[in-house]
Amino acid sequence: MPRPVLSSTSSRRPSRGATPGSATSGVPAMLRALGVRPSRRLGQNFLIDPRVAERIASLVSDAREPVLEIGPGLGALTTLLARTGRPLVAVEVDFRLAEALEATLAPWPAARVLRGDILEQRLEEFVGADAGARVTVVGNLPYSITTPAIEWILAQGPRVRRAVLMVQREYAERLAAAPGTKAYGSLTVFVSLHAEIETLFRASPGAFHPRPDVESVVLDLRPRPWPDTSGEERALAERLARAGVGTRRKTVVNSLARGMEIDAARVRELLASAGIEAERRGETLGVDEWIRLARVWRGVGRA
Ligand code: SAM
Repeated sequence: MPRPVLSSTSSRRPSRGATPGSATSGVPAMLRALGVRPSRRLGQNFLIDPRVAERIASLVSDAREPVLEIGPGLGALTTLLARTGRPLVAVEVDFRLAEALEATLAPWPAARVLRGDILEQRLEEFVGADAGARVTVVGNLPYSITTPAIEWILAQGPRVRRAVLMVQREYAERLAAAPGTKAYGSLTVFVSLHAEIETLFRASPGAFHPRPDVESVVLDLRPRPWPDTSGEERALAERLARAGVGTRRKTVVNSLARGMEIDAARVRELLASAGIEAERRGETLGVDEWIRLARVWRGVGRA
């Protein structure tokens, strides 16, 4: 029999009377009872608006779909996701919250809590040996680790089918920015090289406890299959974009010559071969152009 995706292995203590699906109500009281003062460092802004939690959970519509949750906290999303009986692993770094959540999840044996830092986990350990197995990642992301968490997700390759993520609104704007706009930068290019992003809806500061200073946005991030580009081409496109977009107001030829440590005249030739004007600013190049340039660059073995 194939090993189940996101198998549940933890033993669990009996529930302490948690009401399934109620993890958004009474959050301040629950924190007090646990002796937890929300930590800024850990990005602990807990969802208290059940409509937002329901809306996120409803996006993961296949009731059998295996889910990996990043930072479940008190379980606002976890309980809603677990109640379908789907396999679920929730990775929580704060041991006090993880322990409380283990008790809350007791009614759903396919759901388990893993205590630890998501950035130190290996997806293979949850997914098992089945190479074709794919998971959906869900997370109201701690703001302090938004970029490393997205890098972690993208590094898992096709094993992540999609990620439904709550992030700061300004951050979402950077990810979805069009070339040439102020918000566009190497982060935009990096994420766009690996995934398609759709902004789904906003959540106001009042949806959280403690109340953050900023609005949040829920994103749907779908890793791209890129059937016509190799991993090496994408990695090189990423390197070129980091060099070429990082220095605003410089022409792409000058940024690349400096960032890639290569003669400007040669860069000019490579840009011409890729059909890109050398005098453009790096931040106006789209993802497809970075890929095109990477192909030419790689073809001449200069990187
Ligand atoms: N999902 C809960 C909710 O929506 O109410 C909590 C979200 S809160 C914004 C972020 C959570 O991520 C906190 O519970 C925090 O302890 C946890 N966290 C922070 N850094 C983490 C890390 N590196 N790995 C796993 N969890 C982390």
